[in-house]
Amino acid sequence: MAATDTHFAQHLSTKRVPAAEREAILADPGFGNHFTDHTAIVDFSADTSGAGSWHDARVEPYGPIALDPAAGVLHYGQEIFEGMKAYRHEDGSIWTFRPDANAARLNRSARRLALPELPEELFLESLRQLVAADQDWVPTREGDSLYLRPFMIATEAFLGVRPAREVSFRVIASPAGNYFGGEVKPVDIWVSRTYARAGRGGTGAAKAGGNYASSLIAQLEAEAHGCKQVLFLDQFNDNAVEELGGMNVFFVFRDGSLVTPALSGTILEGITRSSVIQLGRDRGLDVSERTITLDEWRDGVASGDITEVFACGTAAVITPIGRLRDGDEMIGTADAPAGEVTMSIRSQLLGIQAGLLEDPHGWLTRLV
Ligand SMILES: *Cc1c(COP(=O)(O)O)cnc(C)c1O
Repeated sequence: MAATDTHFAQHLSTKRVPAAEREAILADPGFGNHFTDHTAIVDFSADTSGAGSWHDARVEPYGPIALDPAAGVLHYGQEIFEGMKAYRHEDGSIWTFRPDANAARLNRSARRLALPELPEELFLESLRQLVAADQDWVPTREGDSLYLRPFMIATEAFLGVRPAREVSFRVIASPAGNYFGGEVKPVDIWVSRTYARAGRGGTGAAKAGGNYASSLIAQLEAEAHGCKQVLFLDQFNDNAVEELGGMNVFFVFRDGSLVTPALSGTILEGITRSSVIQLGRDRGLDVSERTITLDEWRDGVASGDITEVFACGTAAVITPIGRLRDGDEMIGTADAPAGEVTMSIRSQLLGIQAGLLEDPHGWLTRLV
């Protein structure tokens, strides 16, 4: 097989966002509000036998997508995505974290959603190309980053039900606010007893927009009960804890051990989750991936065996969980401070990503 062609045509324009406006945005980026000047694109076309290829790799000005109203993504939800960040180091170089893991996960999601797999070199090159074109958008302030959102959509105009033969892979980028500064406050979590985000044999292990669509109503329910996030349970397995709508969950035990729910097919395998498992083991902690039920959570908090609970994912890195609200019942106490182990793992992860701490596993890849 021929080596993958990773040449990207450059259709760069004058910058979409004037420099002064960009600087104002970078002064207070928030999350997901603003987008950079460009987008990286690679298209895929297959013939009726299903054989196809990726072509027309390019960098274009950021802007609306011209999509046929019959495009598959608009009707049958054939869409997957990734979430990662670019970090500027002190010497001005720009890096990302474990992109090989994101590339591999994108392809696992692609297989599940009957989308074509993207060669890993093309995935990485699309990040490099976009970040090179938009490097002015990578924040310099410590703790800030440029959030990268690769995604793949079915673009073929066809209403029959089968996998699309025309597909587009794109990357957009959005500056993300400071996770070093500001107080890290534990958040309250709502247990959804009404809704599930994933089911047996479903798409829960894939990073697919449809999973988010199905979790939004539960998120509204959580907010109506004064909680920030939803915890989903495995109703078939003794109310085992699964994950939040977009973050994995960890428990810290009094003896120092860490527990996270085992991957069951309905849990998304977070790259932050894998990294926390590794960092925990590096510290000599006993880390297990196993079933953990709400009863164990309740009893463990009551007895003091469970000392900290946290959620993790690329966007918010590590967020301490304060209380769990299950109907009228509360697990945990109000105004408990963020746990020590939680905050220590959090600062190690942030430090590695920022290039300030040793990266013992070679997780960083230079983009620019
Ligand atoms: C993206 C995601 C996560 C976190 O994954 P990371 O790779 O750590 O960002 C967790 N759960 C769900 C459902 C997700 O979509």
